[in-house]
Amino acid sequence: MEVSSVKGIGPKSLSLLNKIGIYTIDDLVTHYPFRYDVLVRSNLKESLHDEKVIIDGKVESVPILLRFKAGLNKLNFRLVTASGVVGVSIFNRAFLKPNLEIGANVIVIGKFDKAKNVITASDIKFGLLGKEEKIEAVYHCTNGLTNKQLSTYINTALLMNSKDITDYIPEKYANKYKFLNKKTALNIVHNPPSKEKLREAKVRLKYEELFAFMFKINYLKEQHRLEKKGISRDISIDDINQFINKLPFELTNDQRNATMEIVSDLCKNIRMNRLLQGDVGSGKTVVAFISMYANYLSGYQSALMAPTEILAIQHYNNLKELLKNTNINIELLTGSLNKKDRSLIIEGLKDGSIDMVVGTHALIQNDVLYKSLGLVITDEQHRFGVNQRANLQNKGVMPDVLYMSATPIPRTYALTIYGDMDVSTIKELPKGRKTVQTLVKSEREIKDVLELMYEELRNHHQIYVIAPLIEESENSDLTTVIELKDKMNLAFGSKFKIDIVHGKMASGAKDLIMSEFKNGKVDILISTTVIEVGVDVKNASMIVIFDANRFGLSTLHQLRGRVGRGDISSKCLLISDVDAKRLKIMETTHDGFEISEEDFKLRGHGDLFGTKQSGDMMFKIADVRSDYKILVQARDDSNEYLLDTSCDSEKLKQSLIESINHS
Ligand code: ADP
Ligand code: MG
Repeated sequence: MEVSSVKGIGPKSLSLLNKIGIYTIDDLVTHYPFRYDVLVRSNLKESLHDEKVIIDGKVESVPILLRFKAGLNKLNFRLVTASGVVGVSIFNRAFLKPNLEIGANVIVIGKFDKAKNVITASDIKFGLLGKEEKIEAVYHCTNGLTNKQLSTYINTALLMNSKDITDYIPEKYANKYKFLNKKTALNIVHNPPSKEKLREAKVRLKYEELFAFMFKINYLKEQHRLEKKGISRDISIDDINQFINKLPFELTNDQRNATMEIVSDLCKNIRMNRLLQGDVGSGKTVVAFISMYANYLSGYQSALMAPTEILAIQHYNNLKELLKNTNINIELLTGSLNKKDRSLIIEGLKDGSIDMVVGTHALIQNDVLYKSLGLVITDEQHRFGVNQRANLQNKGVMPDVLYMSATPIPRTYALTIYGDMDVSTIKELPKGRKTVQTLVKSEREIKDVLELMYEELRNHHQIYVIAPLIEESENSDLTTVIELKDKMNLAFGSKFKIDIVHGKMASGAKDLIMSEFKNGKVDILISTTVIEVGVDVKNASMIVIFDANRFGLSTLHQLRGRVGRGDISSKCLLISDVDAKRLKIMETTHDGFEISEEDFKLRGHGDLFGTKQSGDMMFKIADVRSDYKILVQARDDSNEYLLDTSCDSEKLKQSLIESINHS
């Protein structure tokens, strides 16, 4: 129901409520406080000078109103409290005067001037503090809409007919956990009588929110399973093993298991929707390649999509190298192809003469049609939106989809964001990998940094340098790389080759420099930000990151993963004058999962996923960081409920399903 049906909400308040995202009564009553103020009566005798105090008592004198220039005013009165009589002053509340009659009960919050025995109040409320503490809800407001008004609207709405508030917890679970009913819980959350009650009410509301969310995920997963729109096929495991045995290295157990999980998905008539996650350098790419080969054997085309052109080219070259003794036709499709080459590739995909294509987003443009696309792999966690998925359809059949991510996802997020997917995990790094020695350095220690760099260069190793991140102006990242290049030139330019890549460069130029770096013609590669995620140069043994504090730990871990890819000992130098404590975590922790958990604790999920996804993940009351147990319980229950056909309330199920469309 519309929020305008709540008594007291006129057009002006309505537009202010809309401004903070409140349209319906449901929105209003679930506009939860973002914090609570706990009011505990102070003992003025023990309070210190200038301390913030909260005290209640009776007004003892008629308030005196003083008016100043510029419309300022001040009220002075005396208050009798349990710890003696005290003076109270409050600015700009002249309107309170009529209510501050002698004998009125008031609560005063403010700063205590011990010498003068006067409280300069920031707020005055009518009433008395109970024996216990008083807990007050504090809301996110907006200009023109006060905390008090919001609280009044919410409480008015809560007095209305309960039917306007949907309860998503099925009776079975409400009974099982002896949950409060929804209205009671809402009442408590907005007007907490005690901390214990508040906790109980919150658990109930969190459970409900997570239950509805996990129901949605489980429902989508189940729908997907029932669709049976996948391609079923026969793939001989012997053929796959033969191929694996010819690889230049032995697969780790985790790589082998992941491969088998994927191949088994390919064989089923249910469309694969799988996430392959593994730490940087764990060797996800080769698993992707084997899957593409398996898909080829079953007679279908494969597409591998990378986030950047550089990465697409790297994958393309590696794939070609791996399959050089076969007659599989592999092509590269990126945005920078000329018209003629592009149309040739599009033709080849349509007539089926191209078996595998590697590329960027260019792969899923509207005019790119496939004859028989059987497998789509996206590197570095690109998830498709619904429309993009539709673009991947061919002949009404959906290709299998594999997502690869090097951002190890904290288990809570794996459950939520990727909850609708199956997950394969590569934990084990290939044999012989050495951990990358990581050091946090301040800018004053730049000399040490240069010396360490020199040591690597002398040993014919290569170095990545990540330039400071500056967002102020359009071209500033270019300026910082160029400045840095000048500095590096001064130090090393006479003996070593230094080059730069940055976002604004034409991709042809970028690729040229990348391939020179790969071939060892460039010794120091300076680059901006993270454009080169996934690049693999085994001879690079050092990465120096300026302004390291600007990055999340997971991003730093990704960047660090650029080195230590072969068997040379490698170093990662993090340069920053601030935030050293957080950065030090990098010195001791090398496990991407642990790092992402830390990051998650420190910064939330913003750094793990783009803003778009993090927006999807906003819960109103649950916090997946701290409510993991409730999440797991809600997941299990919602799944059981979904599959329970003896379910008593089809109506509730229906409203849960409908809630999917609203979110
Ligand atoms: P990521 O998982 O970060 O994408 P890559 O797939 O780029 O990692 O692999 C990193 C490097 O490790 C590549 O050079 C790859 O050839 C190599 N590699 C992958 N698997 C193995 C293995 N089992 N043994 C040795 N080297 C491997
Ligand atoms: Mg990779």
